[in-house]
Amino acid sequence: MNSTTKGLRTACWDCGYRRDFENTFLGICTWFELHDKGPNKNIPPALVEKGCKHWKKK
Ligand code: SF4
Repeated sequence: MNSTTKGLRTACWDCGYRRDFENTFLGICTWFELHDKGPNKNIPPALVEKGCKHWKKK
């Protein structure tokens, strides 16, 4: 929620919502299904190093 956590350990790689499924390169974000916001999404290359505001510790 606040920008002070930006750039620390908030990459999708370290996020508890990220999953590796067989046919994906960067992984899948499961935040959407877990919060009833629609199907899980492929993590886009532009986001994978940055993460997003929903990031959570594994
Ligand atoms: S998009 Fe956000 S919630 Fe999804 S894996 Fe990346 S940091 Fe986590």
